[in-house]
Amino acid sequence: MAENPFFAPSTLPYRLPNFAEIQEEHYLPAFERGMADHLREVETIAGDPDPATFTNTVEALERSGQILKRTSTVFFSIASSDATDGIREIESEISPKLTKHSDAIHLNRALYERIKQVATDDPEEAWLLEKYREDFVRAGADLSEFEQERLKEINEELSRLATAFSQNLLTASTASALVIEDVKELDGLSESAIKAIEKDGKYSLPLLNFTNQPALAELTDRQTRRKLYELSVNRAPENFDLAVRMATLRAERAALLGYPSHAAYSVADQTAKTTDAVEEMLGKLVGPAVANARREAEALSEQAGFPIEPWDWSFYAEKVRKARYDFDSSELRPYFELNRVLKDGVFHAAGELYGITFAERDDLVGYHPDVQIFEVFNADGSQLGLFVFDPYARPTKRGGAWMNNLVDQSHLFGDLPVVMNNLNVTKPAKGPALLTFDEVNTAFHEFGHALHGLFSNVRFPRVSGTEVPRDFVEYPSQVNEMWATWPSVLANFAKHHETGEPVPAELLEKMKAAEKFNQGFATVEYLAATLLDWAWHKLAPGETVEDAEAFEAAALERAGIAFELVRPRYRTNYFAHIFSSGVGGYSAGYYSYVWSEVLDAESVEWFKENDGLKRDNGDHFRSTLLSVGGSMDVMAAFRDFRGRDPRIEPLLERRGLLT
Ligand SMILES: [Zn+2]
Repeated sequence: MAENPFFAPSTLPYRLPNFAEIQEEHYLPAFERGMADHLREVETIAGDPDPATFTNTVEALERSGQILKRTSTVFFSIASSDATDGIREIESEISPKLTKHSDAIHLNRALYERIKQVATDDPEEAWLLEKYREDFVRAGADLSEFEQERLKEINEELSRLATAFSQNLLTASTASALVIEDVKELDGLSESAIKAIEKDGKYSLPLLNFTNQPALAELTDRQTRRKLYELSVNRAPENFDLAVRMATLRAERAALLGYPSHAAYSVADQTAKTTDAVEEMLGKLVGPAVANARREAEALSEQAGFPIEPWDWSFYAEKVRKARYDFDSSELRPYFELNRVLKDGVFHAAGELYGITFAERDDLVGYHPDVQIFEVFNADGSQLGLFVFDPYARPTKRGGAWMNNLVDQSHLFGDLPVVMNNLNVTKPAKGPALLTFDEVNTAFHEFGHALHGLFSNVRFPRVSGTEVPRDFVEYPSQVNEMWATWPSVLANFAKHHETGEPVPAELLEKMKAAEKFNQGFATVEYLAATLLDWAWHKLAPGETVEDAEAFEAAALERAGIAFELVRPRYRTNYFAHIFSSGVGGYSAGYYSYVWSEVLDAESVEWFKENDGLKRDNGDHFRSTLLSVGGSMDVMAAFRDFRGRDPRIEPLLERRGLLT
């Protein structure tokens, strides 16, 4: 067998992982050797006889564990985008070992002592040093031997539970699919959509990973809608017990670390800092949002001619949209061709703002034939990084859309970034992929994260690009959404896929008018999920939950967000954001989206005040905010960009919540 490709740095441009050479059998040996090497390197750093300095301690740690870093970066990217059975088996085996490995480093007392002795005057070094101290304390470095043993057990169990949770979920998307034998019951779906789900004379509609399945907007048969909805909200029921156990363990861990709840622990290193701050913010939104949604529900029932049920919402929302605004969102699809959206929309906007250009690199390959790779250049022609694009849904890909790094930018290693975007667009049997407006928006959103990674200009990988607090990381990506509807950008990409004709202006006007409609639904669906996440992670240590579904209902009631027609965007059993990662993921962090949106709404206002899409504006955003990554206090970076602290009003106005 040839040498394991993870053992040496990739020799491809930008150190792009050599996907053509990487085979499944390479991962486990690379993980094992990577962890062993890393531990040895850490032992050397901890046992250094010289006095601790920034270079021989913190910087040395930044340099350590390269094989492990290369292996896990590629592995977890593949585990999200193309998780074959083999990959899933490796994931189950390796996740608890990685947790153990991380604990072995963070609970190394000699190493922690040395970190405490380091001093430096350089601001970027001082910031990183503080991050390291925080990482160690939060991982339990200050605890007694006895407490640390318990902490390790908790972490290992959490990691096993999280893997089981996400694997149950992946299975459920097809195992709980809606299976239909009589095609009449699928009336309303397009011919191509029906064709795509047909197999051996049956039709199987897989579940996407949120409550409200898109097909609910189109299916005319009420019974089919009800069946689909119920399958969706009741999928993976075995995950309820896993969630209870995880929430209980997280509460116990928080207590060990000196916090009253996992939520308190979780926000302490965020920009929110305290649970009170989060609750105060959410408190301003709940009442007006529910009132909005109730008004919308009345309009929908009126349209339907009977009191609607949850599975009717999307269907009649489309009808009201049509009646009230004469707008049918499916009329837009022919104007949103994937390739044009990417090149003439997403790339074009970035070009206007930042002067960057893109060249497809057909000579470089990804892990799947559908993956496209682009080289990105600065306005002066210098190299910026690689952008890897994987647009299509496949059975081995998890739901949703996301960005991740394949190589972190850092001056320490002289590496330029390799960043990646995943979408879940249905690949058509033939012809071009036509997107919904939501999918267009998502493409812009994820590219906002990609820009945060690409523009990173920092010394150390630990604080590169999107390595910022979780309640800040959605902000740059949300800002980038504004360009999806910017008139000159839209005119550039929204052209009919067959005729090339621009999208009719009146269709856009209607879309804009209709945009505010259904905001109540969207806000309540999101807030309900946020408050559910919050309730699970405000559990006090030792508190028990007998019945997860009853807990869920009571939590929503208590938070004032219970509304039978609008369930949380994610119920407990499929809330992957908060239960599919042992360490935390978005646990007690789902609030981050609306928290970031405060900064987003402020920034959109700034761009508009300053004449919108132009180089000066892009360059200012890039230099003050995008390029610093997590190498400084991100709120200070925001003030550098905006010139003052954020206010909540622009967000309230945008969401129609000003009272
Ligand atoms: Zn995002």
